[in-house]
Amino acid sequence: MPKNEIPIVPYLHLPDAVDGEAYLIGAKCRRCGEVYLGERAVCIKCFTAGNLDAVKLSRKGEIFTFTVVYQSAPWVKVPYVAVVVKLSDGPIVRASLTGCDIDATSLRAGMPVEMVTEKVREDQAGNDVIAYKFRLLGK
Ligand SMILES: [Zn+2]
Repeated sequence: MPKNEIPIVPYLHLPDAVDGEAYLIGAKCRRCGEVYLGERAVCIKCFTAGNLDAVKLSRKGEIFTFTVVYQSAPWVKVPYVAVVVKLSDGPIVRASLTGCDIDATSLRAGMPVEMVTEKVREDQAGNDVIAYKFRLLGK
């Protein structure tokens, strides 16, 4: 029996029969156009309520800031690079950087990144839990 894949957060869309691409789900204000990560009831830019549409967020963005994490919970492999990414369509996303050596001296704000998905663990039912991370473009 094939394993199911479960997104780690409700705003991560995993590939399915309708859309074969993984992406983050956002909310866009119909009045002012502001875009947010995840679901929103109220736009905090123009204070309009109930006027936001679910949108597919860009998989690309740039590093806004980052840090190297050397200590974490016992089950988290360290060190890793924690990044704050500004997506090309606006929202700011916190995630891990993957697919690169832990060399913070080579990282800079403004470097282009792309969202990828990775299995991070299995749940108790044996499903793969899938998280989103970012990788440097051109690496
Ligand atoms: Zn708005």
